[in-house]
Amino acid sequence: MPNGHVIRGSRVGSAPVRPAERYEPAPCRPVAYWCRNGHQTQIRIAAEAEAPPVWDCPRCGHPAGQDAQNPPGRARSEPYKSHLAYVKERRTDAEGEAILAEALAALRRRRGTG
Ligand SMILES: [Zn+2]
Repeated sequence: MPNGHVIRGSRVGSAPVRPAERYEPAPCRPVAYWCRNGHQTQIRIAAEAEAPPVWDCPRCGHPAGQDAQNPPGRARSEPYKSHLAYVKERRTDAEGEAILAEALAALRRRRGTG
């Protein structure tokens, strides 16, 4: 005897209409965040809730803010430096002048004009 069929059939016509609106999620709004690595993250929060100022980027873990042009954490981060910037950091201008003068002197010696 197919019991499954009997059980299902017993509800025909008697099942109450499920109130669909009870299962709908609360109204949400999308909020976009950008981390300093340029990753955009979009989350959805309750429409009446205040968006958190900072959201952790799921891709790199850095804090992400709602201002794409000014993501949080930039001040703390190591800014991009050129090789010259690193050289200048290690050497003072005076040292740089001396190194340059030395190099020019060596060049002139090789050319026989120093
Ligand atoms: Zn990121």
